[in-house]
Amino acid sequence: MNHRNRTASWAMGCGVVGLHLHSLNPPTWAWWALVGQFLVYPHLVYLWAKRARHPLQAEIINMRLDAFCFGMWAASLGFPLWITFLFGIGTCINLAAFEGRQGLLEATGALLLGVLVALPWTGLRFAPDSSLPVALLSIVTLSTYLILYSLGAHTRTLKLHQARQRLKENEVALQNQLAEIRLLQTQLREEVDRDPLTGLYNRRYLAATIDRELARCLRDGTPLCVMMLDIDHFKRINDRHGHPLGDRVLVAVAETLSTTLRAGDIACRYGGEEFLLLLPNVSPDTARERAEELRSRVAQLRLSCDGEAIEVRISIGLACTSDRAVHATTLVQQADQALYQAKALGRDRVETGA
Ligand code: GH3
Ligand code: MG
Ligand code: MG
Repeated sequence: MNHRNRTASWAMGCGVVGLHLHSLNPPTWAWWALVGQFLVYPHLVYLWAKRARHPLQAEIINMRLDAFCFGMWAASLGFPLWITFLFGIGTCINLAAFEGRQGLLEATGALLLGVLVALPWTGLRFAPDSSLPVALLSIVTLSTYLILYSLGAHTRTLKLHQARQRLKENEVALQNQLAEIRLLQTQLREEVDRDPLTGLYNRRYLAATIDRELARCLRDGTPLCVMMLDIDHFKRINDRHGHPLGDRVLVAVAETLSTTLRAGDIACRYGGEEFLLLLPNVSPDTARERAEELRSRVAQLRLSCDGEAIEVRISIGLACTSDRAVHATTLVQQADQALYQAKALGRDRVETGA
C-alpha cells in the first residue's frame, strides 16, 4: 500500500518541483537529483522495507526519511510557499496516520533536520513565490493525494468492519456449538446415571450418592430411610406373558414410584425387578406410611395381556438410620433383610429392618 502511495505522491511532487525548477533555470545535475529523488528513491526504500525483518518499522523509518528529504528540498529551493506547504502537510499526514501525535512531532523534526542539513550547503535563502501553474499544480496534487488517501481509509474501514462482522458471526457460531456440547455433556452424564428401561437412576448413581446423603443426614441430625422393593413372582409374569410384558410391568412400577417421589427422594433400579428408594429427612413412621401407600398403588395398577388382567404385587423392606452412626452398606443390608422377611412372611407386604 505504501509503495503505491509513495510512488504516486512522489511522482506528483516531481511534476510540481520540476515545474518550479524549470522557472529557475537550474544546472543539469539538479534535474538528475530531481529524477533520483522523486522517481527512483521511492522504489529503493520500498525494496529495503520489503526485505527488512520488520517491514512496518522500516516503513516508518522511510516516512521519516521522506520528511527529511522534503526538508532538504524545501531549503534548497528557498522555501517556495506552495511546495513547502505541500511537503509539510503530506509528511505530517503520513506519519500521523501511522503514529498519531508522535508522528506529527517526528514529521516536523525530520523536516527541520532536513532544512538544517541543507542550509550550510545552500545558504539561507527565502524565495516564497512560485508561478501560477506551480500553485495550481500544487492544489491539484494535494487534492488528489487527500482524496486518494480518504478513499483508501474508507476501503480499510470497510474491510475492518467486515472482518469484525465475520468475527462476531464466528463467535456466535462458537457459542452455539459450546452450548450444544454442554447439552450433550449433560445428556451423556444423565445417561450414564440412568437405567435405560425405566429412566430411574441406576446402581452406579446410587453408589456415588448414598454416602453423601447419609453424611448429610447425620450432619443435620435427621433420619435417612432406605426402601427396598421387589416385584413378587415376577418370573411367573415373564414366563407366562413373555419378556416384553415383563418390561412393561417394570416400567409401570417405576412410573408409580416416580409419581410418589417427594423433593429430595432418590429412586433407583437396584437390580432386575428390584428398586431402591432413598428417603432423606423422613421419619421411620412416615417412611412406613409411604411404603404402604406405594404397595397399594402398585396393587391398583391395571395391566393386561391378551385380555387377561395382570396382577402386580410388591414386597418392601425398610431400614432407617438410628441415633448411632451407621454405614451405608449396613443400611442397605438391613433393608434387604427386611425385604427377605417380607417375602418369607407371604409377600405383598412391608417389613421394617432392625
Ligand atoms: P420373588 O417373589 O421371590 O421375588 O420371585 P421372583 O420371580 O420375582 O424373583 P426371581 O429372582 O426368581 O426372578 C426375577 C426375574 O426377573 C428373573 C429375570 O429373568 C427377570 N428379570 C430381570 N431383569 C429383567 C428385565 O429387565 N426385564 C424382564 N422382563 N425381566 C427381567
Ligand atoms: Mg421378585
Ligand atoms: Mg428379586
